[in-house]
Amino acid sequence: MGAGASADISRNAELVDDLDRLVKKQQRFVNVAFNQRQRGALVHVEGRTEPLTLPSGSAVYLWKQDPSVTRVGIRKVYLPHKIRPGPRDDNIEVVLEIPGTTEKDHKATALANPDALGDFLADIEGDPFCFDLVHTYAVVRLTVDMYIRDLQLLDWKWNWDLNLPPGQPKTPIKVLCHAGEKANATYHRGKKCLKFYYLTVESKTGYLCRSFDIVSHETGHAVLDALKPQLYSHTQGQPGALHEAFADLTAAFACLEQLDMCEDIIAETKCDLRKADWLTSIGEQFAQYMQAAAEAEAKANGQPTAGVHRDDAAGEHQETGGMRNMNNALTGETCGKGIYEICNVFTGYVYDILVDFFAWERDPYLGESDAHCLNRCARIVRKLLLLGLFNSSEVPDFTEISHGMEKAVDVIAKSDPGDIKMYKQIIAKRREDRKLSLAGAEKREKPVDLGAW
Ligand SMILES: [Zn+2]
Repeated sequence: MGAGASADISRNAELVDDLDRLVKKQQRFVNVAFNQRQRGALVHVEGRTEPLTLPSGSAVYLWKQDPSVTRVGIRKVYLPHKIRPGPRDDNIEVVLEIPGTTEKDHKATALANPDALGDFLADIEGDPFCFDLVHTYAVVRLTVDMYIRDLQLLDWKWNWDLNLPPGQPKTPIKVLCHAGEKANATYHRGKKCLKFYYLTVESKTGYLCRSFDIVSHETGHAVLDALKPQLYSHTQGQPGALHEAFADLTAAFACLEQLDMCEDIIAETKCDLRKADWLTSIGEQFAQYMQAAAEAEAKANGQPTAGVHRDDAAGEHQETGGMRNMNNALTGETCGKGIYEICNVFTGYVYDILVDFFAWERDPYLGESDAHCLNRCARIVRKLLLLGLFNSSEVPDFTEISHGMEKAVDVIAKSDPGDIKMYKQIIAKRREDRKLSLAGAEKREKPVDLGAW
């Protein structure tokens, strides 16, 4: 036996030891679903008794990112759901009008119908507005599916159905793709809907429903409203910022849940997630477009600018146009009191964790490809955030959620094994670095004369 073979045996023995440690580590963890069952309100998917039969879903086309990210463009996606004309299913219903709304000029004139194979492959050239209905439905569906898998829920319920007695039909969220001419997109609990507007600037019309980011962001508001209903009425401070932060993070997570998008990010950034601008900016192209429109509008009649947001009960929840970016250096000390600056501190914090986890977990030579690793790390961080939120008080602040995420590391590691000690260290260190507890808090006035001490 040569020295090389001996080294191989020794290395193999180490690997077996590692594997043994990993298995033992896994056995200590409890499943995330256990937490859900303990709360009683949610239904867990119990063990399967027979294989899933084929076929049960539909193929659709969708914009995989923003239409302006032409490198990515439109791709065909399979949705494993029984989708009815609309598109519509038990959770989501695309509509052409919402009773009680005043918007006119819907661009789509008829709902989308499946072809003979049950697919919704609308031709974007032949009927771009029908394409919009399918695309928007698909992004909402993909986003909700991501969270349903994370939470292991068989029976998803929106906010308005949370107290629905068993056996009663649920009310799907309505999705209005061409809600009218305005630089806005909203989640409205009272009307049980998502609305996406469009805007014409210098004879060119932009449709918010065509941005994966923006549709996913609004869906994130609706998801959080089902998980933490009391946050909806908060529009100030950290609780108010949480809705926007969760919505922004949803857009990034929904993107990272798609393996081809992970491959694209890896190829474009060479694994430097700090360079993944189109991932970390929200509706970036449309934001620029809206900014131009808003400036023109403000110039013309002094109207305030608008953006992507949720409507609160009074319809006063407005956001200034312009882009947010979770790849930022804001801390609780340096951010202002505005809800979107406070939001950026938290999204920046969660993005820091993703960047650190990815750097720690990467092993493209002996482990998994970088794209798979990114996809997995995003899932881990997302589940930590969900559990941190789920197991915190009804109106939590950033620090409480961060501590919840730290505790949740033990829980998620059953389905996603990882370096528990290192994960906890990263979550805690980044919490300190970002000074989460100070975001939005009252601060002492800084001395005007910086030369004085
Ligand atoms: Zn929003």
